[in-house]
Amino acid sequence: MSIRTRFAPSPTGHLHIGGARTALFNWLYARKHGGRFILRIEDTDLERSTRESVNAILESLAWLGLDYDEGPYFQSERFPRYREVIRRLLDEGKAYYCYCTKEELEAMRQEQLARKEKPRYDGRCRHRTEPRPGVEPVVRFRNPTEGEVVVEDLVRGRVVFANRELDDLILARADGTPTYNLTVVVDDLDMQITHVIRGDDHLNNTPRQINILRALGAQPPRYAHVPMILGEDGARLSKRHGAVSVLEYRDQGYLPEALLNYLVRLGWAHGNQEIFSIDEMIHLFDLQEINKSASTFNPSKLLWLNHHYLMHSNPLHVAHHLRWHLGRLGVDPEEGPDLVDLVLALRERTKTLAEMAKSSLVFYRDLTEFDPEAAAKYLTEEALPVLQALLERFRQLDAWEQEKLHQAVVATSEALGQKLGKVAQPLRVALTGSSVSPPIDVTLYLLGREKTLARIARAIDRILANSKPAL
Ligand code: GLU
Repeated sequence: MSIRTRFAPSPTGHLHIGGARTALFNWLYARKHGGRFILRIEDTDLERSTRESVNAILESLAWLGLDYDEGPYFQSERFPRYREVIRRLLDEGKAYYCYCTKEELEAMRQEQLARKEKPRYDGRCRHRTEPRPGVEPVVRFRNPTEGEVVVEDLVRGRVVFANRELDDLILARADGTPTYNLTVVVDDLDMQITHVIRGDDHLNNTPRQINILRALGAQPPRYAHVPMILGEDGARLSKRHGAVSVLEYRDQGYLPEALLNYLVRLGWAHGNQEIFSIDEMIHLFDLQEINKSASTFNPSKLLWLNHHYLMHSNPLHVAHHLRWHLGRLGVDPEEGPDLVDLVLALRERTKTLAEMAKSSLVFYRDLTEFDPEAAAKYLTEEALPVLQALLERFRQLDAWEQEKLHQAVVATSEALGQKLGKVAQPLRVALTGSSVSPPIDVTLYLLGREKTLARIARAIDRILANSKPAL
């Protein structure tokens, strides 16, 4: 049997960390077994579903590299099929029309509560044969009243539900629209899903879905319910804990492989191993090894992983992502240093691509201001001959290569009888506006001849202007 998994988000918001992990687990399981991964957009709630959310979900999956083999299927395009299944269940007596009004249902609820019973629909329309004039009926599933539903969950183990605890759930609302449990069942069946891997907030729906599948004469898929993700304070992960959407992590400068690596470890482990390449994840992942208890989201560990991937991924790959971040800052990546050189120069000192892009700005944009403290300390009259000598030397340099640039700085310090720092620091402030930058030869190299000469000249002008005697 070929494995078929699905990711079935409701497009009522961005793809968040929990959803992304569900998508990843489904994707890994399908890839591991040479199966198919299906994307299904559950947009039957027409009021809450938006195009924008659909786009955000597709964009997030594409950025993470979780490619799907089929879909996206849209439930909103499948209403005729749902109607057909509801009709069939009605015809076979496995579903029935319920004409109870809101008021009646509320009265039933109150009576049950007064008797200290769990509120549930009591099935009073099960045997009704006549319609009730003026009431648009809902369609309810005729749930078995006896026996139990056993879910052999691949994460939780055996979970048993008594049928008498499950009431006759609504399959179609009074306006004819199908409900969640019906659409999921029809789709899982039609799409021949073999493994349903989803959040454990759906565990209570599972026995109902199994009963409907059985009523349709179908063999239910296997289920794996994944425990939820908590914030560090133990509460369910939410916006209060910081970024929760995948696109926010992209925008903050995380690499997709860092986020995937983080997500795979969130609730799943393979010994003590922390770093997993995508291939390793596919190879090693298994549903049985998913933790039974909730996991805690740890932003500093994610940041650590991101730095690891910035350092160890192919610089060309990192450069590709850096290009996107530079674009976001309004920088044309063609008008500056080679991006691979930038990555090599900056990756050790930056933890995110956003930080790296910000540190790169100095190599693109004209310097508009100097850090006042750095300028006061280093762009002084004392530095004037240093900068003038450097300017001269750089002008005469035949090739703009890191080694030659290094020698030029050393030669200048020797010629002036100054310590290297006395030369390098004013130069650094002249070039970058600040006293922190990558090593000076790297900075010079990345900046290029034209910008270097212009910036030293400008720093010289600044010193001269400041040293003019006051009138
Ligand atoms: N659409 C449901 C959700 O976003 C998922 C349903 C399922 O996986 O069965 O929670």
